[in-house]
Amino acid sequence: MGATHRHPVFTPEHDELRDSIRRFVDKELRPFVDEWEDAGYFPDAVFRRCGELGFLGLHHDERWGGAGGDLASGLVLMEELGHCGCGAIPMAIGVQTHMSTPALGEFGSDELRERYLRPAIAGEKIGAIAITEPDAGSDVAGVTTRGVRDGDTWIINGRKLYITNGKRADFLTLVVQTEPGSRHRGVSLFIVDTDLDGVSVSRSLRKLGMRGSDTVEFTLDDVRVPHANLIGGKTGEGFAQLMWQLQYERLSGAAAGIGQADEILGETIRYARERRTFGKALGDHQVIAHKLADAATELEAARALLYNTVWKIQQGDYPVAEISMAKKFVAQVQNRVADDCLQVHGGFGYMHEAPVSRAWRDARLQRIGAGTDEIMNEVIAKRLGISG
Ligand SMILES: Cc1cc2nc3c(=O)[nH]c(=O)nc-3n(C[C@H](O)[C@H](O)[C@H](O)COP(=O)(O)OP(=O)(O)OC[C@H]3O[C@@H](n4cnc5c(N)ncnc54)[C@H](O)[C@@H]3O)c2cc1C
Repeated sequence: MGATHRHPVFTPEHDELRDSIRRFVDKELRPFVDEWEDAGYFPDAVFRRCGELGFLGLHHDERWGGAGGDLASGLVLMEELGHCGCGAIPMAIGVQTHMSTPALGEFGSDELRERYLRPAIAGEKIGAIAITEPDAGSDVAGVTTRGVRDGDTWIINGRKLYITNGKRADFLTLVVQTEPGSRHRGVSLFIVDTDLDGVSVSRSLRKLGMRGSDTVEFTLDDVRVPHANLIGGKTGEGFAQLMWQLQYERLSGAAAGIGQADEILGETIRYARERRTFGKALGDHQVIAHKLADAATELEAARALLYNTVWKIQQGDYPVAEISMAKKFVAQVQNRVADDCLQVHGGFGYMHEAPVSRAWRDARLQRIGAGTDEIMNEVIAKRLGISG
């Protein structure tokens, strides 16, 4: 929509990065997005290309091929990918950069980082994050995928549901319960190759939106995973590792949401200038103009909350409440903006070919994935001392 990104969190280097990602999005993603959405899949080559351009390791350590940049660099990537014309690609790339690899980068052994993080940053291996199960979504500590130690290996059994990048993933960052009868204290994170015996995709899932991304259910049946693939080397540390990683996941999803909302609002403003009813442009009907002015205002507030939260982190804070506020507020604003934009398009907004119908469908996941609105409120209420 052309809003400025001026904020103390961004340096001239971030602006340059933004320009280069924008060029990539305009030339190498946007022209193909309709085709990929219809196919329900986009080529793995997109990961390799993002790897070649250095986009998959912006905030990862240089030792493993990353750029060693700050948190804001990764969020510039997500926000700009949000402009590509669908939510599926930022989500899939975000799983690679912000969901399946941060805990590996922060807590994994050098051997694990060499084997999985380096190729993930290069776009040569694709990762997925496998937390959710048929009976445990919001309640992460309730996972029942079970790991039992047998010498130098772990035998893992269970099911994982709604796994993004699942069809194409080379490895899973897998959440496992390693202490029977335990909750948080028994959660451990493993890196699991998807070509191991016993790992299978039991179902491919069809979705309301995010259609260009692949989402599957996994079954793990007596999968033997080396002890060396346990992130951090000790069991029972996975919950804390995951909660740390989830903060970045939430911010990355919010950044993509700002990009998507900005994109569709810009498109709708153009539509409102072109489409005429009752002898004048839609945008000249005050009700429509005010609806879009309200949407722009809300989007600016959401953007400011997100950038400010990132700025606090870069000053050394760990503002968990604000991260949850930003995640929830951006998701809600994105949904309101998409809904108002669809309304402004009238009947055309309901058509498959209208970009706004995809934006509306894709936005809905933002209030569910990576922690629902309700779970974000739980986090905020606990952090603010509202509930115990
Ligand atoms: C397209 C898509 C992609 C996904 N990708 C991944 C992925 O890559 N990896 C992965 O692990 N997961 C993934 N997920 C799963 C996603 O993170 C979960 O769906 C989400 O966390 C919610 O869990 P649930 O679906 O089990 O809902 P539930 O936990 O069953 O919740 C149902 C409803 O109850 C509410 N609720 C639950 N507990 C409370 C409470 N204590 N107080 C108030 N309200 C409550 C929730 O907010 C929600 O509205 C994906 C989901 C989708 C739809």
